[in-house]
Amino acid sequence: MIYRDIIIIGGGAAGLMAAVGAGTATHCADGILILEKMPRPGRKIIITGKGRCNFTNVKPWSDFSAHIHPKAGLLKSAFYNLPPESLSEMFRQAGLDSVVERGDRAFPASYRSADVVDTLVRMARQAGAEILCGKEAADVRTAVQCSAEDLCGSDKAGLQDMDSRARFRIQCSDGSIYGCRKLIVSTGGLSYPASGSTGDGLGWAEEWSIRTSPTFPSLTAIVPAGYKAAAAPGTPDHGPHHPAKRPLKGHIDRSIPMSAKGKALNGVQLKNIGLSVYAGDGILCEETGDIDFTDGGLEGPAGFKVSRKCVNAISNGARVHIVIDLKPAVNQDVLAKRIEALWREIGNDRRSTGKTSSERLAVLLGKLLPRDLIRGFLLYNPGLDHTKLASALKNWRMDIAGYVGYERCVVTAGGICSSEISPRTLECKKIPGLYFAGEILDLDGDTGGYNLHIAFSTGYLAGQSAAGSAT
Ligand SMILES: Cc1cc2nc3c(=O)[nH]c(=O)nc-3n(C[C@H](O)[C@H](O)[C@H](O)COP(=O)(O)OP(=O)(O)OC[C@H]3O[C@@H](n4cnc5c(N)ncnc54)[C@H](O)[C@@H]3O)c2cc1C
Repeated sequence: MIYRDIIIIGGGAAGLMAAVGAGTATHCADGILILEKMPRPGRKIIITGKGRCNFTNVKPWSDFSAHIHPKAGLLKSAFYNLPPESLSEMFRQAGLDSVVERGDRAFPASYRSADVVDTLVRMARQAGAEILCGKEAADVRTAVQCSAEDLCGSDKAGLQDMDSRARFRIQCSDGSIYGCRKLIVSTGGLSYPASGSTGDGLGWAEEWSIRTSPTFPSLTAIVPAGYKAAAAPGTPDHGPHHPAKRPLKGHIDRSIPMSAKGKALNGVQLKNIGLSVYAGDGILCEETGDIDFTDGGLEGPAGFKVSRKCVNAISNGARVHIVIDLKPAVNQDVLAKRIEALWREIGNDRRSTGKTSSERLAVLLGKLLPRDLIRGFLLYNPGLDHTKLASALKNWRMDIAGYVGYERCVVTAGGICSSEISPRTLECKKIPGLYFAGEILDLDGDTGGYNLHIAFSTGYLAGQSAAGSAT
């Protein structure tokens, strides 16, 4: 067994920052070790913000906390321990300048996510941490689960060292065995499994009888009915105890091909539309903003904003539909009058002679909608004529068939229940010496830098706490 004072499983945003936090301690004689299963740390950070990495949001807590779900309480101590300005300053001192854009979103001045990863790795190493990549923690046991022989006896790697200090025993898939006094689990959630986040820590938590809130994808594409050619739910198999194994009601895999309707809408981007989401007859939420139709379904800033409630409702069995208001700035009566006037104008135009009413309708739509939207809009609104157009533009209803799952969602909602964790230290109440940080916690944020700040601030606090130097 190789012994370290603190072992951090997962070298993502939370894990790297946990090492920085732990490095602030004075009594860490036997070192800090990060075990990362991918060939390099911070794989997911590389893909954040479309490669630009929106690493935090500089709003004060009163505004910041409104973007954190399901409850911001668990984050509060971590946030105040490492507020956004302190994070930016910490990066600046490590050589990474930042810029703040619209919506208080902070990015590296270079707009290169790789610079954030390089900086974090440098900071973690300077804090005294060793980072071992290609090390997948496969079997993690707490002192109560291990026999004395497991913890202290000769290990399969032949190291023969007896180490009575270890409270946790970690066996990696290559057979190597590690022991530590303090363990930080920062293995992330389940989103983008190709980046290494396959929910392993959530599986261990279940084995340790630590309660988790059911996980579900958030900040993901919602899929209108008829958008995909077929909708066969997919549930990846990651072995026993694995949360990803639970079937997700309403999951429509991103790779399922689009139907003619989906193909007609794919690529359309709409600015400043109104978007209302209903579960049954009750309204779930309303947003105004931009949406994008993609190969996955409906996304973009406003789409992502409503996705959390949408997915939650669908996975709980609700029938969900959305209503898009393509003309939010004008009321329906005024719009109807304008359409009547345009219709008369088209009728009086010499070029309309001999045109069918559907050809005239196409001319009318050309005056009211972006050209690339018309075909998809007509496919979703069959039997439309100019008398129904004002209502259709203001109340474009789409039933929602489901949502894209962990394979392409930005963040995993749900995770380790806040009731299991001391918010001031992020230590597990049931198992002293065990800490959780990052997306594995039952904390998720909106788009805008909130999720990385959750990871950085909880990582930093868990690291400091584990090293016994929490402020
Ligand atoms: C496409 C995309 C864009 C995003 N953009 C932004 C953005 O601009 N701003 C923002 O705030 N948030 C963004 N996010 C969300 C943000 O990236 C995550 O919330 C954040 O990275 C979570 O950090 P984490 O350290 O908790 O988990 P992760 O980043 O998932 O890191 C977990 C690490 O643990 C490792 N690991 C897992 N299991 C094991 C094991 N058994 N043994 C060893 N290692 C293991 C993984 O390989 C991984 O490196 C984005 C997410 C995606 C998918």
